[in-house]
Amino acid sequence: MTVEIRDFTKRGSGIIFIVSAPSGAGKTTLTRRVLRDYPEMHLSVSFTTRAPRSGETPDKDYHFVSEKRFRRMLDAGGFAEWAEVHGNLYGTPRRVLERQLRRGTDVLLDIDVQGARQIKQHFVSAVAIFVLPPSLDELRRRLAGRGTDARKTIEQRWRHARHEIQEIQGYDYFIVNRDVKDAVKRLAAIIAAERLKVCRYTRKPG
Ligand code: 5GP
Repeated sequence: MTVEIRDFTKRGSGIIFIVSAPSGAGKTTLTRRVLRDYPEMHLSVSFTTRAPRSGETPDKDYHFVSEKRFRRMLDAGGFAEWAEVHGNLYGTPRRVLERQLRRGTDVLLDIDVQGARQIKQHFVSAVAIFVLPPSLDELRRRLAGRGTDARKTIEQRWRHARHEIQEIQGYDYFIVNRDVKDAVKRLAAIIAAERLKVCRYTRKPG
């Protein structure tokens, strides 16, 4: 196959960037901020059976649905991945994801470790990034300081985080979120570098 310079002006397919982190590691702030640098990226809006937290906007933060509706979508193959997290169901809508990738748009998925595993199985060129808190003590402080969850929930999430961190071995990159500005810079650098991989331009989409 002959390669032409013009081949490097347009990628065949968008890139999936998975960002996972234990809750409280500051991932939401991080993903929202990096989208300011990359406004052309698409942030996937998940479906969830969890109740909205105060300050969350339906269809912007999540599509909040009943378990019945979620299960119906699941049975119809509507999710590219899904998982149960802290007793609630979460899923990435398949159609939106595939449409964006076909258009060549990069997609950011804010999903947990179970979802990341499923996406990596089906989309081999997906990039998985794990956001770590500076320490477990700091994570506990951040969870408590957030003020949106009951004490029992905070404890559950903290314990769950310790397990989730073990899954980092299936990821491509890690970012320690000590300082948001610095973490945003690192995430932006990963995105920029992944976009410049030769194989993404010379390989057939898929
Ligand atoms: P929260 O309820 O705090 O917004 O999210 C709890 C966890 O669920 C986070 O780790 C978040 O990344 C994850 N999550 C959110 N949406 C999805 C999804 O569509 N799929 C999966 N697998 N996890 C998700």
